[in-house]
Amino acid sequence: MKALRVLFIASELNPLAKVGGLADVIGALPKALKKQGVDVRIMIPKYSMIDPKQYPMQRIARRIPVRLYNRTYLVNVFTTKLPGTSITVYLIDQKDFFADGGVYYSKTALVGTFKEIERFLFFGRAALESLPHLGWKPDILHCNDWHTAFIPVWLKTIYCCHHPFYASLRTLYTIHNLANQGIGDLKLLKVANVSTRALPSLERDARNNDIDLMVQGILTSDAINTVSPTYVKEILTPEYGERLDPVLKLRQRDLYGILNGIDTDVFNPSTDVHIRQRYSVKSFEQKQINKAALQQMCGFHVDPRVPVFGMVSRLTHQKGFDLLIKLRKELIKLPMQLVILGTGDATIEKALVALSKRSSRTMCIFLKFDAKLAQMIYAGSDFFLMPSRFEPCGLGQMIAMRYGTPPVVRSTGGLADTVRHLKTGVVFHDYAAKALLAALHTAIRIYHNPHVYTALAKAGMRQDLSWGSSAQVYMRLYRKLLASHS
Ligand code: ADP
Repeated sequence: MKALRVLFIASELNPLAKVGGLADVIGALPKALKKQGVDVRIMIPKYSMIDPKQYPMQRIARRIPVRLYNRTYLVNVFTTKLPGTSITVYLIDQKDFFADGGVYYSKTALVGTFKEIERFLFFGRAALESLPHLGWKPDILHCNDWHTAFIPVWLKTIYCCHHPFYASLRTLYTIHNLANQGIGDLKLLKVANVSTRALPSLERDARNNDIDLMVQGILTSDAINTVSPTYVKEILTPEYGERLDPVLKLRQRDLYGILNGIDTDVFNPSTDVHIRQRYSVKSFEQKQINKAALQQMCGFHVDPRVPVFGMVSRLTHQKGFDLLIKLRKELIKLPMQLVILGTGDATIEKALVALSKRSSRTMCIFLKFDAKLAQMIYAGSDFFLMPSRFEPCGLGQMIAMRYGTPPVVRSTGGLADTVRHLKTGVVFHDYAAKALLAALHTAIRIYHNPHVYTALAKAGMRQDLSWGSSAQVYMRLYRKLLASHS
């Protein structure tokens, strides 16, 4: 059988440019697909933060004209390799859009201001324009989240009809998080050079004179998927549909839920260079050394008898911090320590800082993005806390299990699919402070029964959390897309 050729197009890629779980997926799923024989490549913007010394680059195409609104910009394409692999990464270079700052303009700009949306519209258009210059033609464009949602729109409305090169391309659109839709002023359609008449779907979209990129991606791609079987069911309901459940229902036949995995080579406690002491299931007791180091770093009392709860997370409405903040009085009294690493919403940051000031011997917060510290928390904590309001898949809980740190999670989306109550973690149901408190009590009780605790932690470590089987599901979906259109 001819090898499938798949191009991932995304705004984030671990380790080159990471904000959250999207980067992890784009850095890991292609590796698993490659292992199974797919000719897979990745395309991201060439952000100025990507260090060419760390990731040696080669320019393979120059001065490709890309039109946005009434201006033509010139784009260069560079390549590098995904570290430790032979996978080609294409980097779209255009200084007007990608020269300043990090992946997104603001810390929480996953949501999208006009400038941010314009920037990613440019990226999508540049991705399409650069395809004939790569010397390699994909069968599938695998687009991810709102940042690349207009690619199928342009393919359907402009490229497929006028350029034979594009006619055979198929698109899969993955929703990593339905909450971030890329909603902006209708003027953005002018920026994108798409007429309102070309988009029959617009009546389902434009409310208050705006355009929703996520809606357009859902309606125009050949298939859509999201990142866990539970979340795919949830988003068809008003409670979790973020107002798009009616739109998603229109595409229900082409909508799939495929569980994320984690890169078990990158996240591996027996090889991790960032942690104080490496360990495996067999040497699980060595994990204690990481706990002591973490307690010391946080200024906590270094005491093996007190359970440490860790959190590594974007600080957003999604992640359940309001429940934690509501529990401030109870938290202080609980025989536990809590360390949080995250950045994001300023009000959440402020509330957590206030909380940690009140109880600095048992609560510690780091307001930054720090991949190394994240690993120290995964390895050094006794439990990993994820009380999410909703969670498309969630990778934190899987990384934690890989490190023998049982997660305490709310049963939603991918958390419900990956953590088993009292088998690999602690699961609570209601989105309520009381329910979270009860789960914390349960975890503390388990911790004080070493036999039960160790069994829970080791069961988590022994699971197959890799991308292997999900990569096969993606391959079947790619083939289905190609077959149904040939
Ligand atoms: P989301 O994609 O909603 O942000 P996930 O749990 O799917 O949540 O993935 C989050 C990823 O980002 C994990 O790899 C987590 O360790 C990482 N991460 C989140 N915040 C930070 C931070 N402040 N520093 C380092 N890593 C972080």
